[in-house]
Amino acid sequence: MSHLRPGAWLFVRIAIQRNLSLLSTLVAAIIGIGAPCAAQTAVPDKTVVLTLDDAVKSQIDFVAPLLEKLNFKATFFISHAWMDDKEHFLTWKEVAELNRRGFEIGNHTWTHAPFDTPEKAATLEHELTMIDDALAKVGVPKPVSFAWPGDNFGPEAIKVLEAHGIQLARRGMQPEIPYGEIRVGPLLDVKKNYSLLIPTTGDSYPGWTLEHFKKVVAGAKDGKIAVLQFHGVPDTVHPWVNTLPELFSQCMDYLKENGYHVIALRDVAKYYDWPHLPDDPMLKQRVNTARKK
Ligand SMILES: [Zn+2]
Repeated sequence: MSHLRPGAWLFVRIAIQRNLSLLSTLVAAIIGIGAPCAAQTAVPDKTVVLTLDDAVKSQIDFVAPLLEKLNFKATFFISHAWMDDKEHFLTWKEVAELNRRGFEIGNHTWTHAPFDTPEKAATLEHELTMIDDALAKVGVPKPVSFAWPGDNFGPEAIKVLEAHGIQLARRGMQPEIPYGEIRVGPLLDVKKNYSLLIPTTGDSYPGWTLEHFKKVVAGAKDGKIAVLQFHGVPDTVHPWVNTLPELFSQCMDYLKENGYHVIALRDVAKYYDWPHLPDDPMLKQRVNTARKK
């Protein structure tokens, strides 16, 4: 050691310290010392979850190519409710194609009924399995994400989702914001919102503008995530949830130009502290929205 120059000796000391520190981190991880949230990933500012419901044809014709161009992820929530209309809604083959192209496929139930009551919750397991089976036939893995049909939810159905292996479920802006109002909904806070009651921050109705959209996503900071709910772009069969392609393009361009991270619902899993899920007061709520679908 006496042959080492002072600079080299410093280097050796730093190397030893760094290794000791690495070793102590490793030991702490093995024996479970440290903050319970140590494994949790922090939510970056400007995180936006993009979801599109009801298997509308324009989602593969217009939305998917646009998102690919921008390198954005998204979740498509599939219900069979309208799929017999092959002109306006996706086929199972097209759903499989969206999966192959890297988008998340979520379960939105077979009939799109409200599942807020104990009676309806008793039929939910069957409806989830019907979707799983149809997806399996075209090579799509069993979904881990779910969207409450018509934004209706209740405590009995939450238990069914858990037993079925659903990890993440998106609700609407209700009960905080009445259905149909153009207002900013609650942001997702993984420390407050239960993983099966993830609120919608922005629900796209025909009265939306780019200015309103900017307000919706502006809250995506300080650990909070903006969750967006769209239907068809356009949606000619369900005009009350129509989004014009031009407005959708402007919204997506705004996210791209301003450095937002646009992710699928499944990508939120890494932000949850799974052994310590939040005790959300909504777990005891029963919400039946007045929405048509
Ligand atoms: Zn729906």
